[in-house]
Amino acid sequence: MSTDPHPFSTATRLVQAGLHRSGFAETAEALFLTSGFVYESAEEAAATFEGKLERYQYSRFGNPTVRMFEERLAAIEGLEACRATASGMAAVHAALVSALKAGDRVVASRALFGSCHWIVAQLLPRFGVETEFVDGTDLAGWARALARPARLVLLETPSNPMLEILDLPAICDLAHRAGARVIVDNVFATPLLQRPAEFGADIVVYSATKHIDGQGRVLGGAILADGAWLKEVVEPFLRNTGAALSPFNAWVLLKGLETMALRLEAAQERAARIADFLADQKGVARVWYPWRADHPQHELARRQMKGGGTLVTFALAGGREAAFAFMNRLRLIRISNNLGDSKSLITHPASTTHSRIGAEERARLGIEEGVVRLSVGLEAAEDLIADLGQALAAA
Ligand SMILES: *Cc1c(COP(=O)(O)O)cnc(C)c1O
Repeated sequence: MSTDPHPFSTATRLVQAGLHRSGFAETAEALFLTSGFVYESAEEAAATFEGKLERYQYSRFGNPTVRMFEERLAAIEGLEACRATASGMAAVHAALVSALKAGDRVVASRALFGSCHWIVAQLLPRFGVETEFVDGTDLAGWARALARPARLVLLETPSNPMLEILDLPAICDLAHRAGARVIVDNVFATPLLQRPAEFGADIVVYSATKHIDGQGRVLGGAILADGAWLKEVVEPFLRNTGAALSPFNAWVLLKGLETMALRLEAAQERAARIADFLADQKGVARVWYPWRADHPQHELARRQMKGGGTLVTFALAGGREAAFAFMNRLRLIRISNNLGDSKSLITHPASTTHSRIGAEERARLGIEEGVVRLSVGLEAAEDLIADLGQALAAA
């Protein structure tokens, strides 16, 4: 039995969409921790492999718990279909590679998550794909790059770690005129704060590891798009290359979705307060938070997003030395490159997540030595502010 989620609001979909109960009529989503499925007869197996019968065969192809996660996320995103993957990078990789062949062109914004940048800069050119990076906030740059035909456009908004906001309607329009489909890595916004398809994007990818789990437990990813494209292009690639999401992880992520709106709202409220607090501190040179009026793309953020999110980026006036001293003095907020956790986490991008891209590329992206990225969790705002305050005073 399945519930039809579509008449309901997002809050209801987060809890009920995609729920398929087994014959035992369990309340919570069942965890089908099985690699394979059995057939009643040899004929049934043969008919399944001929494609005459649609049923579960093997968990690399599909699994009921994974299916529930895919249906729930699709219902929240408002896109037709979803395929879950083992990690966010498996989702980005599959969305790109499944649609590309030698001779194709890919245009991407420069401010990408480190591994996404590596796929575009290093991996794709090895297979004869031409790739070009543009400054994501420069529409003239997009127009120049998309004056020639392209197969795909990949971008991230808000970007990691500088929280740049990219103009989705304008970029999607330029991309479509160049014959390209647009893939948006929507990890920082989540489907609750931004639905890229409403602004023209064709494909949305997630690292479910972040806010969807939201409690730092499992890796997972997802690709959302129209059903035909997913079935024809992405599905054969995923079935045969094996980046399948574990049913256990899918179950954790399903339960994560149930509380995502509550967690996100609470963490976002703390993040906004913390951004304002930091902006007033001596020793903090600059704060980037999309909901603050001093954010360079503030107006655009207000048009495209429903909230400022849970990440706050700021620069310490004293460069790397001050940033390290400050981070080392934090007691409650821990140093980690992960984000979207209920625990607040801080990272120094220039020496960790963005160390490999080199100083020149970091300079182009504005990732200075004093920049730190804070992922705000669910601890009390007063405690987080006190921790930041004492570490700043000491640094
Ligand atoms: C974490 C992240 C990824 C990669 O996801 P994994 O689940 O770690 O593979 C991709 N893009 C963004 C923006 C991310 O934050």
